[in-house]
Formats: sequence, C-alpha cells, structure tokens
Amino acid sequence: MKVNQEVVKTIMDEVKPARLIAATKYVDETQIEELEKCGCLYFGENRVQALLDKYEKYHGKGHWHFIGTLQSNKVKYIIDKVELIHSINSLKLIKEVEKQAKKHGLKMHVLLEVNIADEESKQGFDKNDIRDAMNLIEECPHIIVDGLMMMAPNIEVEKTRVYFRQTKELLEQLKKEYPDYPLKELSMGMSQDYKVALEEGATLVRIGRALFKDE
Ligand SMILES: *Cc1c(COP(=O)(O)O)cnc(C)c1O
Repeated sequence: MKVNQEVVKTIMDEVKPARLIAATKYVDETQIEELEKCGCLYFGENRVQALLDKYEKYHGKGHWHFIGTLQSNKVKYIIDKVELIHSINSLKLIKEVEKQAKKHGLKMHVLLEVNIADEESKQGFDKNDIRDAMNLIEECPHIIVDGLMMMAPNIEVEKTRVYFRQTKELLEQLKKEYPDYPLKELSMGMSQDYKVALEEGATLVRIGRALFKDE
C-alpha cells in the first residue's frame, strides 16, 4: 500500500480543526515519511511491536499515538515513545501506566476507551464503569486524561451517529464532574464513518484505509 497524497491532503483539510491520526498498520516507515511530506504528523499504531519497529526506523518530526489493544505487560516498551494512548480500557492498565510513567518521570496523556454500544466483541469500559476509571486516575499523579475514544459498531453508517453523540454527551458530563482534567478530545471515526463522527464532535479521527492505494 502506498500513500495517496492527494487524498491525504484533502482529508487533512476536510477534518480541520480536528486532527488526522493516520492509522499506519498498513504501511512501513517509507510511507510514513510520505505521510509527513503531505503535512500529516500524527501516526497511530495498533500493535506494540510494529510501533517499536517503525519508531526506530523513522526519523521525522511526527508524533506517535497508540490506538490498539494494549496489554499491561507491554506498557513499559511504549511509555516514553508515544504522545497519547487512545485505548485505555481497564483499571489494571491504568495502574501499570501510572507505574511506568512514574518510573520514567513523565506525565502520560491518555484517552479512556468506552464501549458505548455495549458490544461483546469490543474492548473498552462500560459507560457505567467510566467513573471508576476516572476515580482511579485521580489517584495517579502521572496520568492526564485528555478525553474519550470509541469505535462505532460495524453497521450502516448513518445508524452509528447515535453512538458518536452519546460519547460526546458522556464527555460533557465528565467535564463537569472532573474539572481538573482537560477532557477535550474525542477520538472517533475511521475511514468509513469519519464524516459522521466529525459532525458529532470528533476532535481526533483515526483513518487508515482511505489514505492509501494499492501499488
Ligand atoms: C486500523 C484502525 C483504524 C483505522 O481504520 P480504517 O478502517 O483503516 O480507517 C482506526 N482505529 C484503530 C484502533 C485501528 O486499528
């Protein structure tokens, strides 16, 4: 797969003021450099090993985000390499991020992943458990919650709107209850549904397939 430069530029403009997080699982570091040439400076990886490989080989100015399922025992490998972890989905993971961030003397920015449509196949906190996560983080001085992340169900695009909207409403609630945190980011929307996600308030869109073409 290769970067489709025209499309990348178009989408970057289209999503403003939201930010494009390019999902880079489909490409290697040479294509990541091509993304940078288009002005895209945020790269989202969903696997730890792939992130480490590409991080080592890439020497540009871009920023790495972790967007996939993260096992607690792998936090230590990425903690000092990523700017934002989108996919915090358990209390165990929160404790490990705090431990590793403290060890490295840094404050880790995270998003809480919420399973907004209560899907069995999906990761993320139940919306009723999200406050347990927030309360735990209040005891973690090395973690800053920037907002929420979700993945919409794989259904007709227009039917996903309600789930984006509910996530935004949950964020607004949390802002009132936890004024000490920035809680301004909503990571939602992928290639197939990012337009609807933007209409419903997404500030970070994680887009992969749409940015690339077959060679
Ligand atoms: C791959 C991926 C995306 C992007 O999906 P596309 O359908 O390729 O746009 C977004 N979020 C996560 C967590 C991913 O793994």
